[in-house]
Amino acid sequence: MDHRLSPELEDLRRTVEEFAHDVVAPKIGDFYERHEFPYEIVREMGRMGLFGLPFPEEYGGMGGDYLALGIALEELARVDSSVAITLEAGVSLGAMPLHLFGTEEQKRTWLPRLCAGEILGAFGLTEPDGGSDAGATRTTARLDPDTDEWVINGSKCFITNSGTDITALVTVTAVTGRKPDGRPEISAIIVPSGTPGFTVAAPYSKVGWNASDTRELSFTDVRVPAANLLGEQGRGYAQFLRILDEGRIAIAALATGLAQGCVDESVKYAKERHAFGKPIGANQAIQFKIADMEMKAHTARLAWRDAASRLVAGEPFKKEAALAKLYSSTVAVDNAREATQIHGGYGFMNEYPVARMWRDSKILEIGEGTSEVQRMLIARELGLVS
Ligand SMILES: Cc1cc2nc3c(=O)[nH]c(=O)nc-3n(C[C@H](O)[C@H](O)[C@H](O)COP(=O)(O)OP(=O)(O)OC[C@H]3O[C@@H](n4cnc5c(N)ncnc54)[C@H](O)[C@@H]3O)c2cc1C
Repeated sequence: MDHRLSPELEDLRRTVEEFAHDVVAPKIGDFYERHEFPYEIVREMGRMGLFGLPFPEEYGGMGGDYLALGIALEELARVDSSVAITLEAGVSLGAMPLHLFGTEEQKRTWLPRLCAGEILGAFGLTEPDGGSDAGATRTTARLDPDTDEWVINGSKCFITNSGTDITALVTVTAVTGRKPDGRPEISAIIVPSGTPGFTVAAPYSKVGWNASDTRELSFTDVRVPAANLLGEQGRGYAQFLRILDEGRIAIAALATGLAQGCVDESVKYAKERHAFGKPIGANQAIQFKIADMEMKAHTARLAWRDAASRLVAGEPFKKEAALAKLYSSTVAVDNAREATQIHGGYGFMNEYPVARMWRDSKILEIGEGTSEVQRMLIARELGLVS
């Protein structure tokens, strides 16, 4: 058993670390302040192959896996979470459903440009009436036998990457009928951007992730070909559970990066900032805070890499993914709070990266399954049923 990186993954880590440091860090603060999507940075990430990391080369991917994706996300989030979530959602929510469940034609149509980062895909699961209870989907899709088209009605909220200039599709979950036991049958359907009746609202005003794109979507008699069904009819619920299980590992890697970024910034600042005639980092009270932060980031890293290794090996990973997501998001919030404290008043100023990290940390305990949902999953895996 070895949690150290192979030479190839270490090369990838170093490449993304340099990119985050040299390209993202100098520019992202301005995009964040302007609440603007950083197209030029995303384009460059596409050129580097980051959007294709876990996909096969025959579809334009890099032939890597979830470990490679996690490494890239962690390094990006050490510097900025908006670009990291854009990559995470683009890969895990936009392209992965097509890769896992798409027909050969759907893969050939969408994956090469998604892998190149030329276009983005989104995944619409959450609705205004509920996200955790995603089985209670209200959006409907009816198959019109005369035209062989799905007719979609409903709305989705908080959907990442759904309204950028390069967004090309959103995969939505919708009720397509009833099962014999009366429960709703949920399916996933691909809706290309620009389809008549598909409306994308203005971006939300968010607490954090301000250089990422999040929108509310509405569907009024939206018609798409029957062939836009993704996977089997009625398997949409099972499919998105799989997507979310994997996505949790990616979010855990991102949260680890944010937790580590807080350590990086705090060490730097604790050496520079003087109070009472010495660097603040000469006080054990500050040293111990930073030591605890490093301990948490390190442990979070082991947790997500463990879950990713199980996924890559084809082993069960549901519980480990939930543990990693729960732990890493908790420590991301802890570390962001402590890093801000170490920076004193400057920590409250947006020009300091830790202020951005503080604002970006909270969503990690909410998105892709709240901390309560992770605890429910872990308890269920331990055989506890409510
Ligand atoms: C910036 C951002 C980006 C997002 N991107 C996407 C995206 O791309 N695609 C997508 O589909 N969704 C996306 N989401 C939605 C996100 O996944 C949901 O917000 C999240 O799953 C929680 O759902 P909810 O907001 O409806 O909260 P609710 O489900 O209403 O939960 C409210 C509170 O009740 C708690 N709760 C609910 N049920 C229980 C229970 N049984 N026991 C104990 N506590 C419970 C929850 O943990 C939470 O604390 C995004 C959200 C944000 C904010």
